Amino acid sequence: MITSTCLSINEENHLTIGGIDTTKLAAKYGTPLYVLDEDTIRANCRLYTESMNRFYDGNGLILYASKALCNTALCKIVASENMGVDVVSGGELYTAHKAGVPMDKVYFHGNNKTADELELALSLGVGRFIVDNRDELLLLNSLCEKMGKKASILFRVTPGIDAHTHDFIMTGQIDCKFGVVLETGDAMDIIRLASTLENVTVVGVHCHIGSQIFDLDPFCEAAKVMVNFMGDVKDTLGLTLTELNLGGGFGICYTEADDPIPYDKYMEAVSKVVKETTAKRGLPLPKILMEPGRSIVGSAGITLYTVGSVKPIPDVRNYLAVDGGMGDNPRYMLYEAEYEFLLANRAGDEKNEVYTIAGKCCESGDLLGEHIALPKAKPGDVLAVLATGAYNYSMASNYNRIPRPAMVMTSGGKERVVVKRETYEDVIKNDCE
Ligand SMILES: *Cc1c(COP(=O)(O)O)cnc(C)c1O
Repeated sequence: MITSTCLSINEENHLTIGGIDTTKLAAKYGTPLYVLDEDTIRANCRLYTESMNRFYDGNGLILYASKALCNTALCKIVASENMGVDVVSGGELYTAHKAGVPMDKVYFHGNNKTADELELALSLGVGRFIVDNRDELLLLNSLCEKMGKKASILFRVTPGIDAHTHDFIMTGQIDCKFGVVLETGDAMDIIRLASTLENVTVVGVHCHIGSQIFDLDPFCEAAKVMVNFMGDVKDTLGLTLTELNLGGGFGICYTEADDPIPYDKYMEAVSKVVKETTAKRGLPLPKILMEPGRSIVGSAGITLYTVGSVKPIPDVRNYLAVDGGMGDNPRYMLYEAEYEFLLANRAGDEKNEVYTIAGKCCESGDLLGEHIALPKAKPGDVLAVLATGAYNYSMASNYNRIPRPAMVMTSGGKERVVVKRETYEDVIKNDCE
């Protein structure tokens, strides 16, 4: 089953992406190869930006959570779609800067930003800091003083919503490495402290309740809890917060078991809750921020591999080994993430064999999937793994000194390389002796 609209099968029975034959891409650029369809990425961006206009009078900003996939090409694309960028490290910040993303639209997250990273962000003029904890607040304030800068900040709040159950288990989220807890009073205390500091201005609050969520309710519940907290801040401290950042986490389709909600539905539902709750609390409408990552790039990308060997172990399993693996996609190894697989050069053939897809690294756990139905495969076949646009390249490593793959982007029936394949020289470039 092919779930992404950029994918199709041509008359030669080959998988296509953005109208381009993937077997030709594999032959031209080599494998493993990441391929993303830019037109799909832009369409995903517009679903969010247009819904912000339609349901909330454009009083907000969509931030691309760049940890899903961060490179200069992608930062340029999202910036040209009038989105901002959410970064969680100096490296992501530097990438956004080099891509020319306007710094006032960059939001700096992370639960342990270093002094060096904060200084870089201050000197580049980053728009907002999402402050995680008390130590970071004090560090940021003192760095501002040292550098003669002021910082606009939001606090990351743990609203006590468990997105992965339907019971909203309130205690489930107190144990979290991110943010300050709302229900224990920590969140109020830190805002009180911040309001006494010279060099920071608290403009809002942020929450991010999880990832790969398929349900509107947790987002609506989080929005309600957060607006009520903004009401409490006003009542207790006399401080009117003007920004509400509701994070990301919108689910995508990896296999046919996944049934995502159209992304504009989130904005529609959340803006209704925000409007109702602010009215009830007598608050002005805040600027809303949303931070989709996976749902911008995930289903726009595929990975192509070449099959190297097929090894049946009778009564045990059939191994099919490819020329990549955990180095370019660690998600199966990390959390048994499921994907859709097909043979790109015989894309429409009946899937009458079952394989364990193995990578080429020296780890038995280096698998891309198990119990995967495919046509009978042989060396030289091109294996396509679908919906690998998010959290694949961004999590890639050089384990076993394997160079990271190239990334190609398709648009309007043409393709271009946006990230070069690493060379062996790249692999040793930091070795000093
Ligand atoms: C990971 C993350 C996101 C993006 O999550 P997706 O599931 O990729 O949409 C957004 N905001 C924050 C703070 C995050 O940590």
